[in-house]
Amino acid sequence: MNNHEQMWKELGLDVELHKELLRSIDNTFQQTVGKQNERPASMAYFDHVLHESHGGRVAELIEARKTGKKFIGTFCIYVPDEIAMAADAIPVALCGGTQFSIPYGEKMFPRNICPLIKSTFGLALSKTCPYGPIKDLGVGETTCDAKKKAWDVVNFHVMEVPQKKTDLDFKLWYQAVLDFKNRVEELTGKKVEANRLAETINIMNDKRRALQKLNEYRKLDPPTISGLDALVVMQAALNDDPARFTEHLIELNNELDDRVHRSISPFSKGVKRIMISGCPSVMGNWKVHSLIEKSGAAIVVDETCTGTRYFNDLVEDGAHEIDKQLRALADRYMKIDCACFSPNNERMKSIERIVDDRTVDGVVQYILQYCHGYNVEAIRVAGILSKKSIPNIKIETDYAEEDMGQLRTRIDAFLEQLS
Ligand code: SF4
Ligand code: SF4
Repeated sequence: MNNHEQMWKELGLDVELHKELLRSIDNTFQQTVGKQNERPASMAYFDHVLHESHGGRVAELIEARKTGKKFIGTFCIYVPDEIAMAADAIPVALCGGTQFSIPYGEKMFPRNICPLIKSTFGLALSKTCPYGPIKDLGVGETTCDAKKKAWDVVNFHVMEVPQKKTDLDFKLWYQAVLDFKNRVEELTGKKVEANRLAETINIMNDKRRALQKLNEYRKLDPPTISGLDALVVMQAALNDDPARFTEHLIELNNELDDRVHRSISPFSKGVKRIMISGCPSVMGNWKVHSLIEKSGAAIVVDETCTGTRYFNDLVEDGAHEIDKQLRALADRYMKIDCACFSPNNERMKSIERIVDDRTVDGVVQYILQYCHGYNVEAIRVAGILSKKSIPNIKIETDYAEEDMGQLRTRIDAFLEQLS
């Protein structure tokens, strides 16, 4: 880690506590990601992105703001980055995946809300989030009750994500996209022009294509890359500059190509193939992925927002009129099948498609504690999987280490029962 102490001091952070936070995240990283075998050399870049997320990346954003760019903090993959980028803003996802900040979050928020929210706000409340002081706009959305009410407290711009997918809901969502464009234009003083929007649509589509390609290597038997490393790449995707990220991901994909030819894999042929399904695992949170792979299985796909929900669908490109482009963007983002929808038929279809496509042996439904949307939807997901005779287990947990022994026992027993 570079020495960014002066920057953190100027941002008003609690520098000593912040150092403790970084030590704690680094320790978790070393115990999980760092303990793997046969990691591709190109993973060094993505490790670096994670390590510099509170250092180099923040310094870069501060420099960009000096040139007039605005920085937007986001909390959900529903926020269309393309629009923010076309108005000369930099969107970065700001979700916390660390236990360290949760006690601070619990000083203000109720204990029984999900760890993602407590961790994120805990970072801000403990003065260990370097993004809060430099953020020009925070964008929230109406995907779950805890988030909805949290935005009221912090006064963010809120995008209304509907709860159904009828024509009326599409209209509402399109209006939310339009309002977001207007809000970003007001913030930056720059108009979203069709030409620039076409460019940013391409940048984000290229990024999604490269992520899709990476995930093809996980289809192989044995997969060429671990699920934990694929997760690290996804976590970096939410923080890094998109064009630079894609360049490095192409390098990683090329290395994986070479590993296929040389039969290099972290796993042996016939390894048990697991799908993770449910809540996202944002930076700092490697717990369940690490437990599963340490128990000898391979995670071959993540049906989550740090997985397929982020990169599966591209924005239809080719339109050069702003109205059509905004419609194409609204359509693409509305395809995301978050558990906030009712009924969430798209997610059920998508799960069926993915388990077939990936020849999955078993599914771990990963539910963050108190995330009622995914927790209740787990009943329907289990039903779909049992019809296909695919065993599944529901793991409800937070970011703490206390339940690791118990989780390990349950995961081992689950893997045992897979044919
Ligand atoms: S799970 Fe839902 S609310 Fe959370 S990031 Fe994904 S789409 Fe957004
Ligand atoms: S994980 Fe669930 S409860 Fe937590 S923020 Fe996302 S949707 Fe809300």
